[in-house]
Amino acid sequence: MKTFIVYAHAEPKSFNGALFRTAQETLRAAGHTVVTWDLYAMKFDPVSDRRNFTTAKNPEFFKQQIEEMHATEVGGFAPEVEAELRKMEACDLMIWQFPLWWFGLPGILKGWADRVFAMGRTYGGERFYENGVFKGKRALLSVTTGGPEAVYQKGGWNGDIHAILRPIQRGILRFTGWDVLAPNIVFAPVRVSDEERQAHLKGWAARLHAIKTEKPIEVGEY
Ligand SMILES: Cc1cc2nc3c(=O)[nH]c(=O)nc-3n(C[C@H](O)[C@H](O)[C@H](O)COP(=O)(O)OP(=O)(O)OC[C@H]3O[C@@H](n4cnc5c(N)ncnc54)[C@H](O)[C@@H]3O)c2cc1C
Repeated sequence: MKTFIVYAHAEPKSFNGALFRTAQETLRAAGHTVVTWDLYAMKFDPVSDRRNFTTAKNPEFFKQQIEEMHATEVGGFAPEVEAELRKMEACDLMIWQFPLWWFGLPGILKGWADRVFAMGRTYGGERFYENGVFKGKRALLSVTTGGPEAVYQKGGWNGDIHAILRPIQRGILRFTGWDVLAPNIVFAPVRVSDEERQAHLKGWAARLHAIKTEKPIEVGEY
């Protein structure tokens, strides 16, 4: 199995860093190929505009999706976008490792998605959802929160964590055809004991050992 892990945390010694390393070590030890992309370490530029392209369909007026379709036809993606597209196209499983920021993705990861999920190449025509471009591939969000599990219940203080993740799981991943696996959520790693954090890392490793046979979830509708 070929796995592609996209990682968004600025501090290697963070708990996200520990989850990222655990995933790499576990999957490699199980004989899988692992390709990683450490967005902060690589200083990935998250701004999406003409820098996404080496070509211009309309140099007078920038419309991103028109340029994406043109770049798809003529091979006009900038090297840093093309490289990420190829990693997604080559993998069987994609994992995003990130802390929840403002009920969503950290800007650097959102910008990565804004630049890389290009119209024509990753969706469009009849290719959406169950007929999407990435049909047959699996994706998994591995996310940490600041708030404890108790505040992330339906009707609770912050609401249902699965509803919070739905714009990502449905609006980006399922939309482009990925089968979505259950998210790996570590609630409030900063508030729990070191033993509990170690247990989370062990649980994550155990899950990854058997990930090849895991079935996708329903991401839900609105
Ligand atoms: C801009 C912004 C927006 C935010 N928005 C939200 C939001 O909407 N909702 C929300 O709930 N939270 C939010 N947060 C909080 C954020 O989600 C959490 O701070 C983050 O998820 C915690 O993960 P971390 O990896 O940064 O933890 P860290 O603080 O890095 O780690 C937690 C603890 O784990 C320890 N640790 C590291 N490695 C190991 C290891 N191998 N074994 C055991 N322990 C280890 C660390 O030393 C530390 O004590 C936001 C934060 C920011 C900055």
